[in-house]
Amino acid sequence: MKEKIYTIPINESLDADCSCPFCFLERKLECEAIDYTLGAAMMEPDFRMITNEKGFCKTHIKRLIEKRNALSLALIMDTHLAEIKSLFELENNEKSFFKKKKADNPFVSAVAHVAGECAVCSKINHTLDRYFYTFIFMLKSEKGFLDKVLSKNGFCFEHFAKLTEFAFRELSDREIEKYFKPIIELEENKIAEYHEHIKKFADSFDYRNAGKKCDVPKDILTKTAEFLNGEIGD
Ligand SMILES: [Zn+2]
Ligand SMILES: [Zn+2]
Repeated sequence: MKEKIYTIPINESLDADCSCPFCFLERKLECEAIDYTLGAAMMEPDFRMITNEKGFCKTHIKRLIEKRNALSLALIMDTHLAEIKSLFELENNEKSFFKKKKADNPFVSAVAHVAGECAVCSKINHTLDRYFYTFIFMLKSEKGFLDKVLSKNGFCFEHFAKLTEFAFRELSDREIEKYFKPIIELEENKIAEYHEHIKKFADSFDYRNAGKKCDVPKDILTKTAEFLNGEIGD
């Protein structure tokens, strides 16, 4: 069954010991995309066209450098730089370039487009969107799935926001009430828990509390940051 490509990893992410199943899936997709970019994709003209056009964001160029596959990365950078160079050549031939209206100047939008895109991010996000869609489908079609979700740690807020977007797009009002409201309540409880811990932590700096034990996890700032923005990584 085609949907098993997505349902199996989703079940694995819920079985894994992690704070957010979508962070787990995203990390896995990221590792695969980085390996693919420097490996099999070297022989894939379609993906090379994407890397030539988009290049990479700061996070992913760092991951690519860390892999120490100098030849592959040099070849990717070579063709990407050649494509960027061609944008400049086009504009040099355009005599009315500086007269064009600032708002719709094609050079401004072309360089902004290249600078703002990332071939790895777009590959990850494409599959991650399929996971969000399948997750919503599993909520209403797979027996025991909602209970399994509710027995776990909830979601980081960024992935919760994305899941909410998919839920409200794909589910009827009745289905939202039945399958998604319990997830909203789970997230609400998580927010209250983090808020209480952060308040206690902030209060522990008050001189009136000097010497008193603060019963919140030592890494509460990192944990709260990861709850708000997803896994921070190294
Ligand atoms: Zn997450
Ligand atoms: Zn990226």
